[in-house]
Amino acid sequence: MPAVKEFDPKVISLLQERIKMINTENGAIYLVGPINLPINLRGETVQFKWYCWLNCSEVTEDFEHIVAKLSNVNLAEFQQSSVLVHGDFENADHALIRFHSICHTGDIFGSKRCDCGYQLEQSLVHIAEHGTGALFYLANHEGRGIGLFSKALAYILQQNGYDTVDANLKLGFVDDSRDYSDAIQVLNVLRTKPVTLITNNPKKIDALRNAGMAVEDRVQLWGDISEYNEKYLKTKIERSGHINEGNGSCNNDE
Ligand SMILES: [Zn+2]
Repeated sequence: MPAVKEFDPKVISLLQERIKMINTENGAIYLVGPINLPINLRGETVQFKWYCWLNCSEVTEDFEHIVAKLSNVNLAEFQQSSVLVHGDFENADHALIRFHSICHTGDIFGSKRCDCGYQLEQSLVHIAEHGTGALFYLANHEGRGIGLFSKALAYILQQNGYDTVDANLKLGFVDDSRDYSDAIQVLNVLRTKPVTLITNNPKKIDALRNAGMAVEDRVQLWGDISEYNEKYLKTKIERSGHINEGNGSCNNDE
């Protein structure tokens, strides 16, 4: 059956209410949401609002045109980022945010080579306990921006003695090519008040502040240290400038 090219006006009006266009330097971000997303967090159901966004070179508020284009673009071949929002994120005086870089091996498989899976879950727990916050899940940040296949190559080098920074460099990549600009623009739409960043990584704080965001505080994330990720965590502190304060444990931020 050919793809629908003329849409039921009701379908378009339902979608239009939930799509927002954000102008960017390279085109536009189309932000869809909020969508109700109850999350199973350690056995308890916690209510989140979910938004997803699409970076696009085309700038239009004719959302029917955008929706019509989607069936011709294989979006499953690309990654889209999204954000989970909890509580009154727009108005609350204090809100926690986490910019979480996708980690296929850690977040999905529970790999012990890093502590991303732990950080993902723990960030959501912090946000739920605090009562207000948002977790940005950044889909083009795999392997600090080198992609999943390249990360697999880097893991082979790491198994042969290279640290995480050198493994990326030896494969011809810069150590960290992550870009936070689209996430920051989405954040600006959802909240303009100051935020507390859940991170051990000062580069994330700099990225936010350079983009004009008011970061009022930082919360660190500790845990899930094991024989499998000790060297990885040590490299983060010694070579990537991650902040290691407090309880004497290694910290990390994928
Ligand atoms: Zn990871």
